[in-house]
Amino acid sequence: MDLYSGLPYWVAKNSLYNYFNPLERDHSTDVLIIGSGITGALVAHELCRSGIKCTVIDKRTPSTGSSSASTALLQYEIDVPLYKMAGMIGGEKALLAYQCCLQAISDVRDVFESIGVNPDYERVPSLFYASNKKGAGIIEKEYEIRRKNGLPTTLLSAKDIKEMYGFDAPAGLLNDASAQIDAYLAATVLLDFHMTKSGLTLFTHSQIVEWNKKKSEYELLSDNGHKIKCKYVVVAAGFEAGTFLPEKVMQLTSTYALVSEPVFPELIWQGRSLLWETKEPYIYIRTTKDNRIIVGGEDEEFRDPVKRDKLLRKKTEKLEKKIQALFPHIPFKTSMAWCGTFSSTKDGLPYIGEWPGREGMFFALGYGGNGITFSMNAAQMIRNRILEKADKRYQVFGFERYQK
Ligand SMILES: Cc1cc2nc3c(=O)[nH]c(=O)nc-3n(C[C@H](O)[C@H](O)[C@H](O)COP(=O)(O)OP(=O)(O)OC[C@H]3O[C@@H](n4cnc5c(N)ncnc54)[C@H](O)[C@@H]3O)c2cc1C
Repeated sequence: MDLYSGLPYWVAKNSLYNYFNPLERDHSTDVLIIGSGITGALVAHELCRSGIKCTVIDKRTPSTGSSSASTALLQYEIDVPLYKMAGMIGGEKALLAYQCCLQAISDVRDVFESIGVNPDYERVPSLFYASNKKGAGIIEKEYEIRRKNGLPTTLLSAKDIKEMYGFDAPAGLLNDASAQIDAYLAATVLLDFHMTKSGLTLFTHSQIVEWNKKKSEYELLSDNGHKIKCKYVVVAAGFEAGTFLPEKVMQLTSTYALVSEPVFPELIWQGRSLLWETKEPYIYIRTTKDNRIIVGGEDEEFRDPVKRDKLLRKKTEKLEKKIQALFPHIPFKTSMAWCGTFSSTKDGLPYIGEWPGREGMFFALGYGGNGITFSMNAAQMIRNRILEKADKRYQVFGFERYQK
């Protein structure tokens, strides 16, 4: 499946990480990570840091799956608002999910500080604004529960939003705990660092097509007939991970994104905040270091890549109209547009951990609009499980909830 089409800005900005190393012989390792996107790279980082021998394998050029198409807003806010999630899974678990995402924003920063490379990670505020009157009700309920539980949030009135951002919205929630990143650069610099410094092996252009559990080890087969033996497998195969799962646990969605030509920095709104709204599907907006504006949204249920791609022009025009309506003073000119596929779950939460009965095969499936904060959690949780350390996050992100 094509995970995206069109030209994602990040691939043009960074140019490809051109590493070609197909699996051409049998191989053995302690942990095999399937997927070299941001999730696989973070898992490799956590394992390498703990001295665990691991190998990453990808069927594509490194990190050119969804991570290269991602708009990469880092927010503690999950697609399902906290007050709704509390009703679905209980207040304590919902709060833990939100707290883990909040922590992940700092943890991502720490990962890159530890290797001394900054993949355009930037702390920025985030405004979640009410798209309409109904949205104002959501904002009110969400404010109450976030405030009561000590999550960073400030309630803005219509007047505040007009004064600070210049557009009309009945209410909004502002926080200063968010960030943005270049997820493609992040994944490739991490892999590169650990290949150079920690002995990480990366095989590219090699697809895992079969796996078998033999006593205490796994044996996996690549599309050109070579075997990999390992003790643990981590499936960080993004939205193509379904082939490794006994049941379908997610729905596929198509999303559309575009990046503008650079604009004069003084025209950009206050604090260069991330912006998103209460309406579903929502639009999401961020800026880049070179003063471009990225807008995404117009999500649709995914049917096939051809149908998704056919809509690109129409969706681009819709997104252009939306950003122009919010900021008529910014001369917005689209530079590149693309569309991608992502997965979501009913409760907005990822699936991380072992499918019951399949010990030693870990899934790192950061589904949802804020998949990257889930990837950070997945990397830490899997490291902890391999090191046999307890981790309470499994109660919230594990497969147990699917089976109930
Ligand atoms: C347009 C768009 C906007 C988004 N915006 C945001 C956002 O603002 N914030 C956010 O947090 N998230 C966002 N997301 C989601 C986020 O990008 C994803 O959660 C994240 O990139 C997933 O990373 P990954 O490493 O799990 O998957 P991927 O980057 O897709 O990597 C998986 C890799 O696995 C490989 N693979 C798959 N199957 C096999 C196999 N059998 N054998 C070998 N290799 C295999 C693939 O080739 C691929 O490279 C967005 C997604 C899209 C498409």
